[in-house]
Amino acid sequence: MRSCRPRQESGMNEKIIIIGAGLAGSEAAHQIASAKIPVELYEMRPHVMTGAHSTDYFAELVCSNSLGSNAPLTGSGILKEELSCLGSFILKIARDCQVPAGASLAVDRSQFSQRVTSELTKNPLITIKRQEISELPRDGIVVVATGPLTSTSLATDLTKIMGRDSLYFYDAISPIVSADSLDPQKMFWASRYGKGGADFLNIPFSQQQYESFVDDILAGEVVSPHAFEENKYFESCLPVEVLAHRGRLTLAYGPMKPVGLTDPTTGRWPFAVIQLRAENQQRTAFNLVGFQTKLKHSEQERIFRKIQGLEKAEFLRLGSVHRNTFIHAPTQLLPTLQLRACPQVLVAGQLTGTEGYLESVASGLTAGINAVRLLSGQSLIYPPEKTMIGALLAKITDPACSNFQPMNANFGILPPLEGQISRDQKKVVFAERARHAMGEWVRACLG
Ligand SMILES: Cc1cc2nc3c(=O)[nH]c(=O)nc-3n(C[C@H](O)[C@H](O)[C@H](O)COP(=O)(O)OP(=O)(O)OC[C@H]3O[C@@H](n4cnc5c(N)ncnc54)[C@H](O)[C@@H]3O)c2cc1C
Repeated sequence: MRSCRPRQESGMNEKIIIIGAGLAGSEAAHQIASAKIPVELYEMRPHVMTGAHSTDYFAELVCSNSLGSNAPLTGSGILKEELSCLGSFILKIARDCQVPAGASLAVDRSQFSQRVTSELTKNPLITIKRQEISELPRDGIVVVATGPLTSTSLATDLTKIMGRDSLYFYDAISPIVSADSLDPQKMFWASRYGKGGADFLNIPFSQQQYESFVDDILAGEVVSPHAFEENKYFESCLPVEVLAHRGRLTLAYGPMKPVGLTDPTTGRWPFAVIQLRAENQQRTAFNLVGFQTKLKHSEQERIFRKIQGLEKAEFLRLGSVHRNTFIHAPTQLLPTLQLRACPQVLVAGQLTGTEGYLESVASGLTAGINAVRLLSGQSLIYPPEKTMIGALLAKITDPACSNFQPMNANFGILPPLEGQISRDQKKVVFAERARHAMGEWVRACLG
């Protein structure tokens, strides 16, 4: 395994290297330059393109032009408020370039990425280098922000530092539902064959319910794959609709297998089950085990809400399967975004195991702040867990996590509220608590 050299103290004139001028790298570059530190920003496009980018602009949005909801009582809304409070450069440009999109923040994508490119290019403290980095620089402070389509040579080098099993190339995300939107009367707690505790909530299916569920899955509309993604699923984490197309009983022998799960109301194993696994110790959110899917989001909500007990399900995250390079953050990263194996290397963006445009901006901003602090010998920081950004960083780097998959900003990752609060009021209290925690943190650490 390749090791990193410990950093030699050399003062504030030293530059910071950023690899990748996507959403995270661009935000980090601006934050560092704002602290009057020189930045060398490496971007491989247009000499080496990815399968999804089509321009040489920085912060290109490769798919949707929406940066999510502006509504204050959504995970995405809280994230925006926090980014705004922290002075996010990308969010400001997004707001300048917005196009009408109801409650969402959507942008004119070419105006947006051209603005980011021109602002960074004209900044005298930022030196742009259009070059692929194939090996992590061994000296100095580095922010790696090469995203879900990190070039192969750099990915190979990262595995030399972290170990081969620490980098993933596809994600398989199951939907997550909030606990208080479920009807537990229609489910039962059990583990297969009673091994361990009764840790899973199980939704029993009769044969008739199963058949009609399979019909729905088979008829559901799926998202079209990108050209560079086709037929690249891992056998061990196939989308549910791919399994259903292999045969009507495949799901019942796969993620919906009922063996060892005795339904207390019948005293028997059901025909099939869906298992819900807790997402956190407080059991405020559950994922549908093995339900990674490429069904369109609207189809997932429609089909899954037909399942008994999920009629009123609030989906905190919907399922997906796509090409995505990301590191196993629980074992490799600290919440400050430092690589455990190389603390002078910070990782930002989707490569950290977050999911989404503004989530990438949030880690880019945090990495930028910490790169500056590392250079000046200050302790490294990250927002408290009661904030959305702090919760996201704590969630992805939680060493106790046993089934790591990329995560977005949602209420399910926030620490639970104390006392009895009605479901209607919960989001208001979560949002207010996050706002207060961020305000205090900014005053104490950045003020
Ligand atoms: C096909 C696809 C569709 C997506 N759709 C959405 C969506 O609709 N909504 C959403 O929120 N998220 C979406 N995502 C996730 C999205 O990519 C991230 O949210 C966001 O772009 C990640 O930001 P980033 O800065 O980490 O990476 P990027 O924005 O991808 O930036 C990484 C940059 O690093 C450069 N680079 C890579 N390797 C090297 C190297 N070795 N040397 C130098 N430069 C390098 C790349 O050229 C790129 O410019 C999608 C991802 C993919 C792959």
